[in-house]
Amino acid sequence: MVARRRNDGAARAASSPALALAVLVVFAFCARSASAVGSAPHAAFSYKEGDPDGPEKWSTLQKDWALCDSGTEQSPIDIAEVVVSKDLAPLEQTYRAGAAVVQNRGHDFMLNWTEGNGKLTLNGKEYTLLQVHWHAPSEHTVNGTRFDAEMHMVHEDSTKEKTVVSVLFSSKAAGKDSKLLDDLRPYFEKLTGKQNATEEVKGPIDPADWIDKASGYYRYEGSLTTPPCTEGVIWTILSKVADASAEQIDSLKSENKVHRR
Ligand SMILES: [Zn+2]
Repeated sequence: MVARRRNDGAARAASSPALALAVLVVFAFCARSASAVGSAPHAAFSYKEGDPDGPEKWSTLQKDWALCDSGTEQSPIDIAEVVVSKDLAPLEQTYRAGAAVVQNRGHDFMLNWTEGNGKLTLNGKEYTLLQVHWHAPSEHTVNGTRFDAEMHMVHEDSTKEKTVVSVLFSSKAAGKDSKLLDDLRPYFEKLTGKQNATEEVKGPIDPADWIDKASGYYRYEGSLTTPPCTEGVIWTILSKVADASAEQIDSLKSENKVHRR
């Protein structure tokens, strides 16, 4: 779905020199307003193609969301051989347990730590883990394969630059559950269909448990996958796909299940 948004944008930008110039002007504007945009709360947009606020319209909904259409390094992408670096160092993280809150953001569930929960060091820079949220199905694909779900661990450095660690989930290994999704499922169930509602998590949540240290990863530079689609985001996608049951994947859907087919 989202990949089509990117492709459409590229096709349109290339079709007219006048439009290409307009896109450059918008870029300059975005660069100035980027810092204010980074911390903006989630504004209304839809993931459904054809909706008045669907992916193909994101760039028109707010003036600082233009990159969603005109951007040149937009995520998600298909991970193919070409973007895999061979000699990446092990992930340097010092995640720790902390109190957390689960929120239904309308289109997804987000887990937010209330008092910081450790750091990821990348290219000598320290990023704090702020929040984790889930997409079902996955946004990234690997050699054309889309997975059942994808977890995004969103980090930010002191200049508000973001980096995301992503874990893909598959229910193909029948009967294998995800401990993480099992722990959080009661909160997802309580919050389903209740937009903006929150639930405090009982017991500390330790994200260090969610990173499989035996896994390699893919790395590329892309963007946020939702408005404002800010670019310059370094992505780390674990190459080892995590197990989850079909029921756990279903529990990630934040909208009322009654309305779903
Ligand atoms: Zn995401």
